[in-house]
Amino acid sequence: MFQTSYIEISESAVKNNIDFIKSYLGRNVIFSSVVKGNAYGHGINYYCPIAHKYGVRHFSVFSAQEALAVTLALPNHEYTLMIMGHIDNEELQWAIKNNVEFYIFEQDRLDVAISTAKKLGKKAQIHVELETGMNRTGIPDRDVAQTFKKIEANLQFIEVKGVCTHFAGAEDFVNHERVQKQFTRFKKYELELNKYSWLKPLKHLASSSATIRFPDSQRDLVRLGILQFGFFPTQEIFVHYNSSQKTSTNPLKRILSWKTHVMDVQTVEAGEYVGYGTSYFTNHQTKIALVPVGYSSGYSRSLSNQGKVLINGIRFDVIGTVNMSMLAIDITSSETIRKGDEVVLIGNQGDQEISVSSFSDFSHLINYELLTRLPENIPRIITR
Ligand SMILES: *Cc1c(COP(=O)(O)O)cnc(C)c1O
Repeated sequence: MFQTSYIEISESAVKNNIDFIKSYLGRNVIFSSVVKGNAYGHGINYYCPIAHKYGVRHFSVFSAQEALAVTLALPNHEYTLMIMGHIDNEELQWAIKNNVEFYIFEQDRLDVAISTAKKLGKKAQIHVELETGMNRTGIPDRDVAQTFKKIEANLQFIEVKGVCTHFAGAEDFVNHERVQKQFTRFKKYELELNKYSWLKPLKHLASSSATIRFPDSQRDLVRLGILQFGFFPTQEIFVHYNSSQKTSTNPLKRILSWKTHVMDVQTVEAGEYVGYGTSYFTNHQTKIALVPVGYSSGYSRSLSNQGKVLINGIRFDVIGTVNMSMLAIDITSSETIRKGDEVVLIGNQGDQEISVSSFSDFSHLINYELLTRLPENIPRIITR
């Protein structure tokens, strides 16, 4: 065994979500599967082969390190790989050699891409990221013309695969005006860039939220992360989907479950504290189950006296503080729980479910953060 907990990845749920995404996207819109953050905690080397099997041919990551992980997960497969964030000068050489595409959002990277491509005798394949209002990475307006001039002068070393930007929070209605302004700026650039006859880029700006909320922003390619793992980015986006599609069903399926086993069962007398400190006091004789998962495994300490787990198909409370490697469950109401029984931290058991969102409401984390905090060293098991 050599594991304290494990994560199941449901292959049929991945297929369900990919089928949904494809049916939802406009015709000829490329679905780029965003797998940064170790595929949102699911595991790049587990998720990517399944996604590829069900037809995904484009992957996006943040860094060269993650890009390398994708190439190792998909040897001898046909697909396009795009780095949206960090890549240092040494890694640029690797990327160009291996046909890995990358964003350009500052002049130094463009200069080094040109000189490296020259040295290698191979074109760099780039996506020019435009600043439209997020004020993070992106070529600012004052540098856009000069950037394309420089590219134009170096077309034997540079191929512009894409022109793109990123919305500053399309998942939240309070950002509506800001995001609309960004879209307007991007459309203005689209018109302006028509003057370069050599430039035939894929245009892309939408992530999961914008793809649902502003279908018009899908353009040539969408960069989708959270949707493929079975979650709408926020409740607002889910409600928007339901009302625009006149449906009340959720087309997505959570693909991840997180499970462990009861490590020990103990009886604590009335009038005692359980675990470290004094946060849980037994008013009566209390039976507890110890579970070998703690905050070092991604089970947030803020779930102390808050979390819920499933054992034997019944929901039980986490009591006391979550330790680094253990937590305690109040199982006083159960006669039958034994050492070795399955404990579900996220997922289904019987007809009960612990969902990621219920879980993350408690720990004040949004889905994204809870998922990506699941450590890489928890074994992943692929299930039907
Ligand atoms: C993470 C990311 C995405 C995907 O976002 P989701 O909300 O998970 O769909 C798209 N584009 C960029 C630049 C990103 O960093």
